[in-house]
Amino acid sequence: MSFQKILIIEDEPKVALFIKKGLEENNFYADIDYRGLNTKEQLAQNKYDAIILDLNLPEISGYEICREVRKQNTSIPVLMLTALSTTEDKLTGFDSGADDYLVKPFEFRELLARIKALLKRANQNTLAGNSLKIADLELNTATKTVKRNNTLIELTAKEFSLLELLMRNKEKVISRNEIAEKIWEINFDTGTNVIDVYINFLRKKIDKGYQPKLIHTYIGMGYVLKESGQ
Ligand code: CA
Repeated sequence: MSFQKILIIEDEPKVALFIKKGLEENNFYADIDYRGLNTKEQLAQNKYDAIILDLNLPEISGYEICREVRKQNTSIPVLMLTALSTTEDKLTGFDSGADDYLVKPFEFRELLARIKALLKRANQNTLAGNSLKIADLELNTATKTVKRNNTLIELTAKEFSLLELLMRNKEKVISRNEIAEKIWEINFDTGTNVIDVYINFLRKKIDKGYQPKLIHTYIGMGYVLKESGQ
């Protein structure tokens, strides 16, 4: 069995070492980067399986690093660590391409469970690498590309996961709770509109200017991806 390799970007030595030690005890390799200034180079030189990324670094923000990482490597799982926990912070994190979000202070076993879930999902995506289609919309899970009417559409990692979930369940209504669980692995506080915000991002990218519209809202029930209207 080969060990999976995690890059920890965290400026607080206590936190970084605590994570590294915990990961090593659970048979991972872990490297620490206290500054986060050369993430691109590090990813190019080492084959990391996931990144644990502190949001608040002295010289660069975690959001910035995440955006850079996504430009270079669209599929590496990124778990963001932060002391902030408002919905807006979460949205900014997800929008910059983070796959999951953990608020400090956290228990190591929660971090471990989340990292394992991200790695498992990344692995399944690789294994199931194929093309999903509805009307003229095409999503390739191996190359992480989306095309509508043969035009490439750029999506963030979260938008991609959300679209993939809808496409794998086409013509079935998916509830907000199910989306929150499967895509964010979080139970959002009631009343938050994160899912609706993301559905709107997706609509603008894959439906705006195209026919037929594919994303449909079922008020009080959820969303469905299908060719015909309600
Ligand atoms: Ca920090």
